[in-house]
Amino acid sequence: MAELDDLKEAVCRANRLLPTYGLVTLTWGNVSGCSRNLGAMVIKPSGVDYEALTAGDMVVLDLEGRQVEGRFKPSSDTPSHLVLYREFHELEGICHTHSPWASAWAQAQRPVPPLGTTHADHFYGPIPCTRALTADEIAGSYEHATGLVMAETINRGDPFAIPGVLVAGHGPFAWGHSPDEAVRHALILETVAKMAAFTLSVHPETPLLAQSLLDRHYRRKHGPGAYYGQGSPAT
Ligand SMILES: [Zn+2]
Repeated sequence: MAELDDLKEAVCRANRLLPTYGLVTLTWGNVSGCSRNLGAMVIKPSGVDYEALTAGDMVVLDLEGRQVEGRFKPSSDTPSHLVLYREFHELEGICHTHSPWASAWAQAQRPVPPLGTTHADHFYGPIPCTRALTADEIAGSYEHATGLVMAETINRGDPFAIPGVLVAGHGPFAWGHSPDEAVRHALILETVAKMAAFTLSVHPETPLLAQSLLDRHYRRKHGPGAYYGQGSPAT
């Protein structure tokens, strides 16, 4: 099936970008893609090195989590990805890593505040952090509970206004309209998390970026008035 083959290629390529972008140590990260047409999710197999990955190694599941294709076990984070795809129908790619700067904010259980225009270009407000999981949630279906606690935290109105979230004590998840875009958002999240940590170490009382600047930067790249890049006429 051509569409499924394309998705497996796209998910494989996106996973291989993780070491290229310096977002992973060992195999601590995974990317998935979702086709609404096919009702299928494709994800990296568990514990396989990125360099060795081929499209044929990808694992295919239905959105209830039943494996329909692939000789490997899927990533152990699969239930978290599935919850997000079921809860937010616009998502077509998800990227999870333990990239150090974003994970530092997740471990501190603090949202990443918008302090500059790099943040504002891509995240329209603070990048939120979930609440901590309860002991029962951790003891039960832990990865499923991780998905639910993210779903509880993500903006229902427009999940793409802030295309990432920190899981308390764990690390970042980012998403996009494709597996590639999810990785790009994970890279931007890592970069703005690093910038914010440096900024607050230089000046702990740094104020939040002015709302007018946050609005201006976000809207020149997103929405009906967007004019950044080559996609629309310059103003
Ligand atoms: Zn993880």
